[in-house]
Amino acid sequence: MADGRCLCGAVRYQADPPFQFMVHCHCSMCRKHHGSTFATLVAVPPAAFRWVSGEANVGSYVSSEHATRTFCRVCGSVAPHLLPKLGQVILPAGNLEGELGVTPQLHLFAGSKAPWHEISDGLPQTEEYPPGFDAMSVARPTVPPRPGIAEGSCLCGDVAFEIAAAPITMRNCHCSRCRRGRSAAHATNVLYPSEAFRWTRGESQVADFPLPDARYFGTAFCRRCGAGLPRLSRERGMAVVPAGSLDVDPGVRPSGHIYAGSKAAWFEITDDIPQFDEGPPPR
Ligand SMILES: [Zn+2]
Ligand SMILES: [Zn+2]
Ligand SMILES: [Zn+2]
Repeated sequence: MADGRCLCGAVRYQADPPFQFMVHCHCSMCRKHHGSTFATLVAVPPAAFRWVSGEANVGSYVSSEHATRTFCRVCGSVAPHLLPKLGQVILPAGNLEGELGVTPQLHLFAGSKAPWHEISDGLPQTEEYPPGFDAMSVARPTVPPRPGIAEGSCLCGDVAFEIAAAPITMRNCHCSRCRRGRSAAHATNVLYPSEAFRWTRGESQVADFPLPDARYFGTAFCRRCGAGLPRLSRERGMAVVPAGSLDVDPGVRPSGHIYAGSKAAWFEITDDIPQFDEGPPPR
């Protein structure tokens, strides 16, 4: 049995292995919704899934004719999605605890992958869903780049932001908080100076969740669609931008895998980006 929980702990559930599949999805909707470089999803039949608590805290957003996106209304973690017609419950692997007995098998929508990400693990890649999977269009209009300005938005488009500065750095973080918060194998965050950041629309729709007992850690997300959004850390003078929320190539590449010592058991780091067991070395 695998235990699942969102970052704040309000939404809890259980799934009985074996999982039907584990896939990395690089589609633009998953990247926006999770705010991460890619989503990693597993599935079980409906009979192998149950809510433990917090089902009433799950918000949903219909992102296309074929897809509904679910999330915790308190912390923004991606929630399980029940697809009874397909005989599947799709779960974000980043919110599951322990040994899952499955490892990633496939990269879906590899043609839509993030520009800063190289797929280096040798797993099969498909541009579309495999046969039998309910295919959907995931294209979103791309924003023409403006020199020196990085722009981003949530999945529903109600919230948008821009940053008029060069990025400080980009990192993949494998700590358990980031894995739960982004519901993914790891977070990919781009750090910018906070004074260069501004919301261009929908600021009132941004929910902020400061993790209790954490010095700095928290998440921000769109109340309507649940997509991960930047969080300003005024004390540190930084805007922490989930890379998946960007509509443009930020021009940087990950400088390190941090907290690699805490990474998910099912995820293997196969690229040659430097790894740090804990935080990054002092700059
Ligand atoms: Zn939550
Ligand atoms: Zn996807
Ligand atoms: Zn939104």
